[in-house]
Amino acid sequence: MATFVQKFGGTSVGDPQRIARCAARVKQRRDEGHSVVVVVSAMGHTTDELIELAGRVSEKPSRRELDMLMATGEQVSVALVAMALEKLGVPAISLTGGQAGILTDGAFGRARIIRVVGDRLEQELAAGRVPVVCGFQGLSLEGEINTLGRGGSDTTAVALAAALRVGEKGGCCEIFTDVDGVYTADPRLVPNASKLARISYEEMLELALLGAQVMHPRAVLFGERYGVPIHVRHSQRPDEGTMICRETPEMEDVMVVGAALKPDLGRVSLRRIPNNPGVQGMLFDAVAKAGIMVDDIMQTEFGEIASISFTVDHGDLADVKIAASQVLDRVGTGELAIEIGLAKISVVGTGMKSHSGVASRMFVALGAAGIPIHNITTSEIKISCILGKEHAQKALAIAHEVFGLDKIGASRTEQAAAAAR
Ligand code: ADP
Ligand code: ASP
Ligand code: MG
Repeated sequence: MATFVQKFGGTSVGDPQRIARCAARVKQRRDEGHSVVVVVSAMGHTTDELIELAGRVSEKPSRRELDMLMATGEQVSVALVAMALEKLGVPAISLTGGQAGILTDGAFGRARIIRVVGDRLEQELAAGRVPVVCGFQGLSLEGEINTLGRGGSDTTAVALAAALRVGEKGGCCEIFTDVDGVYTADPRLVPNASKLARISYEEMLELALLGAQVMHPRAVLFGERYGVPIHVRHSQRPDEGTMICRETPEMEDVMVVGAALKPDLGRVSLRRIPNNPGVQGMLFDAVAKAGIMVDDIMQTEFGEIASISFTVDHGDLADVKIAASQVLDRVGTGELAIEIGLAKISVVGTGMKSHSGVASRMFVALGAAGIPIHNITTSEIKISCILGKEHAQKALAIAHEVFGLDKIGASRTEQAAAAAR
């Protein structure tokens, strides 16, 4: 008998019929003789609606109260899923993140899980019940409700799977969503994207960080760190899905495995500032203290003068403007420029480590389409280009095509079959 953690996303629990189908999935695993822990997101677009509601009450609600409000979405769905399970004759109990032992670091709106105290879950499983746990939330050491950042229910699921050591006991973490696996690009944006039978944690993490919404980045990190096999599957259709697993040598045969798009970026530039030691530290310390996640950073030097630019999500521009203006006041000279309407497209692949010419193929293809590139960043396994938002979807399709990604999924499927033989 193995233990499975099954996570159902917002669309998958969007209405009573879908909730019933999710409950049937859970029952199926139980009927096979396994233990199941369920993690659920808020129904449909509930979290967006709660944020919008808060905005109608206050222009800038405090992060604490926003977390208190957002966490209610998941409480609705856990209770309903537990009811649906009981109706099928499966004993179940709904739990908040705190009740399930998820301890967080206190950072409202973007908390990290610092520990999972698994006793309550173990007790419920031992009593033959299915714990149905609120995704996206935990309890800080101060007893405050924290949320884990948008899309964070995936992280709840993988963290619980790690705490319960499901991988060592023949189980895995199943991420049930509204797409039947991880594709070479978002299938909503690139219709000929192909489904991957397998992807490495490293590749999935990069894709998630670069905009592939299908998995929350920290969930992939937990999976890699604690060896949790993650199986991404469609919640309403039976299919093979995608396994996120450790890299195997043949994965390097594929140069690029996926492409991703991060929309709505803004670029903040501090121009003509003194090129003194410590100026970068001062700037990014102020930005970090304002709770802003910085994307790519660029610096150019002209002797004693420097310009530093960085990209952030559009939503953070107002806060970043305040923080950057204060830094300019402190350094005494320089000017602040903010550009909006940017996006980032990226390609990712473990195989880049052993193949050359990947970047040039991408730049040549974008150039031939007349798409200007405003900045480039690379790592061992990714290449990213910042460009105008108006070009983003076309650029994504071009990058997808130039690396033949519409066929890559099939070749990874063959690899998976070979690995299984
Ligand atoms: P859930 O509510 O189940 O957590 P999400 O909306 O967070 O679901 O994630 C699923 C969505 O991720 C899909 O509907 C798809 O549009 C998007 N997506 C982005 N990139 C990819 C990709 N590479 N493969 C599959 N889906 C992707
Ligand atoms: N309900 C949360 C959100 O919409 C968490 C999640 O769905 O993973 O971001
Ligand atoms: Mg999600």
